[in-house]
Amino acid sequence: MTQLQRIAIAPSQLQQEQILLTSQQQHYLGRVLRLRDRDRFIAMDGKGKWWLAQLEGEKAQIVESITVQTELPISITLMVALPKGNGFDDVVRCCTELGVTVIAPVVSDRTLLHPSPQKLERWLRIAQETAEQSERSFVPIILEPVSFITGLAIGTTTHRYICEARGSCPHLREAINQVSTTSEMIIATGPEGGWTEKELECAVDAGFQPVSLGRRILRAVTAPIVALSIVAAELESMEFNAAS
Ligand code: SAM
Repeated sequence: MTQLQRIAIAPSQLQQEQILLTSQQQHYLGRVLRLRDRDRFIAMDGKGKWWLAQLEGEKAQIVESITVQTELPISITLMVALPKGNGFDDVVRCCTELGVTVIAPVVSDRTLLHPSPQKLERWLRIAQETAEQSERSFVPIILEPVSFITGLAIGTTTHRYICEARGSCPHLREAINQVSTTSEMIIATGPEGGWTEKELECAVDAGFQPVSLGRRILRAVTAPIVALSIVAAELESMEFNAAS
């Protein structure tokens, strides 16, 4: 099963146990992957459902649904101040691999990049391709970029953390030790120039706890990846210990 190719489909393509393939998908399956009629592949809707499907011309027949458990046990939103250049592409790719639920790009006082509308489309495509490759059952949601202050209002959880490179904040790993009591967490990381004092104050007023990711200064692209790695390791080791 793991050898089978995976493609993402829109829920509207599924009709009475059949998948109506788009011409792009037909091209990809037939010409790029060289599948023939009756060959099998996996279709995923990006919202938690996977199916084993069999190619039949312009359609595919559903053979059976498949259960996958590759998601983290809680929803994690990363609020990331946009790094310069194409750095955010790497953030989307790596954080999708690591299991992020929502990525919220924000423009902070020291953000240098002001993204064009085409960027969101590009990030969504990267998230979809990476989710397929990482065998995720969900494709992460990528929100439209907003100002940092607007972003502070995202979500309702009390488990909100803002990563601060300097000072003596508790380590993120220590701060999240009550994580089993929540179903949602938000973590914010700053741009190359860091957060301003005012931004940190506003975040604390909005319920964010300042946390450290260790003694070294990480690049703006590295920080969200490290933060998510710490949380994912903690959550998955807790699950593993509970199961054994
Ligand atoms: N120019 C800033 C300075 O000198 O303090 C450093 C900014 S750092 C390149 C970019 C962002 O990554 C920071 O705003 C913070 O959110 C995060 N970050 C980097 N290293 C970190 C660390 N050791 N602990 C917590 N956050 C860190």
